[in-house]
Amino acid sequence: MRVVLMGPPGAGKGTQAKYLVEKFGMVHLSSGDILRAERADGSELGEKLKSYMDAGELVPDDIVVEIMAKAIAKQDADKGLLLDGFPRTVTQAGALDKQLEQLGLPLEAVLVIEADESLLVDRITGRRSCPKCGRVYHVKNIPPVKEGICDACGAELVQREDDTEEVVRQRLAAYRKQTEPVIEYYAADGRKMIRLDGGAPLEEVAQQAAEALAS
Ligand code: ADP
Ligand code: ZN
Repeated sequence: MRVVLMGPPGAGKGTQAKYLVEKFGMVHLSSGDILRAERADGSELGEKLKSYMDAGELVPDDIVVEIMAKAIAKQDADKGLLLDGFPRTVTQAGALDKQLEQLGLPLEAVLVIEADESLLVDRITGRRSCPKCGRVYHVKNIPPVKEGICDACGAELVQREDDTEEVVRQRLAAYRKQTEPVIEYYAADGRKMIRLDGGAPLEEVAQQAAEALAS
């Protein structure tokens, strides 16, 4: 199964991706994770990525398309694909369609998770994660037993640099302006669209997503 997962920052894409991958076994490619890994190496490209990402702005299309095309090409096509955070502009969506067409592996569904802006801001600004094992918490909704410490491995939790309120507002603005048109692009092209309420409990959203994808 080849699916694009869309939604504003904080809608729960990462969490849903985990559920879906467990259920359907496809390969999960998160552009945010891939770009963060890429920028961590301190190269010139890394510095460039950092400047966009820390400001909550989208990384330019040519850079993202190249990085994601490589990541997609590396995967075992039989396993299926869950693209999370990519494409985020209509230009990226066009480039992705072209690549998948050439591979003979067109997209089968577009999952869109929506949620109110106030909920998104609260979720993201409260988000803390473990740099060691990757577990994600929320200061109010999913607090660790001991404040600031990972339950699973004891490491000190951190906040992503772009998870402050100011940057979150910028990321949401980028989503509305540049990414929402991608939903229109797919809908106008008659793709299978699955729209979910990201304000619902995570398990509920996951179940609805799984049912819609299986049908
Ligand atoms: P979120 O969806 O919560 O904003 P991500 O981890 O998906 O977080 O993305 C973090 C940042 O990485 C974005 O704000 C943007 O700068 C960059 N990024 C990720 N995916 C893309 C993309 N497809 N195109 C451009 N920039 C991207
Ligand atoms: Zn941990």
